[in-house]
Amino acid sequence: SPRLRVAPSPTGDPHVGTAYMSMFDVAFAHKHGGKFIVRIEDTDRTRLVEGAEQQVYDTLSWLDLQWDEGPDKGGPYAPYRQSDRLATYKPYVDRLLADGHAYLCWCSTERLSQMREMQQKTKQPTGYDRMCLGKTREQRAELPGFTETPVVRMHIPDDVDLTWDDLVMGASSAPRPDDQVILKADGFPTYHLAVVVDDHEMGITHVVRGQDWMSSTPKQLLLYTWLDLPTPRFAHMPQLLEASKKKISKRRNPWARLTWFQENGYLPEALLNFLALQCYPPIVEADGSEREIFTFAEFTQRFEWAHVKRAGAIFNLDKLNWLNGHYIRELAVGDLTDRLLPFLQRDGVLPAEPSAEQVERFAQIVPLVQTRINLLTEATALVAPFFLPDDALPIADDARAQLKDGAAEVLDAAIGALESLGESDWTAAGLEEALRAAIVDGLGIKPRLAFGPLRTAVSGQRISPPLFESMEIIGKGSTLARLAALRT
Ligand code: ATP
Ligand code: GLU
Repeated sequence: SPRLRVAPSPTGDPHVGTAYMSMFDVAFAHKHGGKFIVRIEDTDRTRLVEGAEQQVYDTLSWLDLQWDEGPDKGGPYAPYRQSDRLATYKPYVDRLLADGHAYLCWCSTERLSQMREMQQKTKQPTGYDRMCLGKTREQRAELPGFTETPVVRMHIPDDVDLTWDDLVMGASSAPRPDDQVILKADGFPTYHLAVVVDDHEMGITHVVRGQDWMSSTPKQLLLYTWLDLPTPRFAHMPQLLEASKKKISKRRNPWARLTWFQENGYLPEALLNFLALQCYPPIVEADGSEREIFTFAEFTQRFEWAHVKRAGAIFNLDKLNWLNGHYIRELAVGDLTDRLLPFLQRDGVLPAEPSAEQVERFAQIVPLVQTRINLLTEATALVAPFFLPDDALPIADDARAQLKDGAAEVLDAAIGALESLGESDWTAAGLEEALRAAIVDGLGIKPRLAFGPLRTAVSGQRISPPLFESMEIIGKGSTLARLAALRT
């Protein structure tokens, strides 16, 4: 049965590409009764960022992309962190050296950068010029640009095969590589060697990764051949692109960071649905119509490599926001309440430990905001007025603008009508009836103009949850106090 892995490098906040790849890994593995593995590729010691590995686990858990094996979970092929596996790589390097497929290179970094500069200046192809190839240490030491600590390079043959059959991209090829370093001077393997050794040792059957890795595939295929290892299948996924068609990157696009979606109020199920749509067709229903909204289980069940689109897809945040709003409206109220609470606590609307009264009031408000937000973060502005003291309600400028002509008259009529409204009539329907009678019928003011000032008084906002429901929730005392506050 298939075994797939995601192999992030802990070099910063996890990239949305990590979730994108993991999603296909999980879908394919689950469809075929296989396993999904997390492997941490931390051999580039200069780029390590503390906490980044934990963020990989946290963001994948948030998305409910559960892994079967990994550094934190263990498994039959542990350890799953490359820095804990250094002893694993050595015998492979020795074998490549012994077979003449690899050689030691003592060129100093200064010499290599001079070489590169010269190649660029004279418009020659760039790449290692093989100064060390076929030389002993003594022979090489007599030449300039020598360093004591060698690296190991692959000796790429002239007839290297540059083609493979990709599960997504079909018949594929990549440019001829130069003599790649596979073991660094610090004794750490490079990505190319480590990825091949580990994918083999961990029994990986399908390598799923971004299209940006296609140039690496011929080098890795060569290593499989030289080491007599069965090759996995490769699936190179189309890139996620920004509107300018450049690949999205953490440097330019904040939303290339997975944590950005968490912080900004996206639902994991909406993000997964959106990512799937980036390169996978919608469901075609029996009547021929297309359905873009589907669960991850539905996606898994119909997943086929052959259906993955090859062209990169533009990451359309408006579309994601729309999808997110859709998923918010589908949630059970209790579920939405639980998901909103941390945002309201973060934004200071509710305390870390809300009182029973606050919890009860919040539960009443959630259905009112459910239809009005696309992002969980948007609830803050709508919910805050319900928890602010009546004498310190901030009034937004555009809401204050509703208070012009005749507002005083409207407020007075409302106060008069509501003061005499009994406890049992203090419901959204009862409030509406009483206020319509007093203002629309009594004063002859159109509803649109009649209720603007009341909304401003109750919420401090021009757009708010429905007025009468809001009054019902905050109660008679608060409603009258807020209306009166605008009369002084
Ligand atoms: P940057 O986005 O700034 O290049 P980074 O260097 O941290 O950030 P990588 O580490 O190169 O990003 O990428 C992490 C993973 O995400 C890789 O597996 C890569 O294939 C994938 N990836 C990166 N960019 C994209 C993209 N635009 N679309 C899909 N996958 C991507
Ligand atoms: N460590 C690589 C990355 O950061 C893994 C690439 C691959 O999947 O082969 O994405």
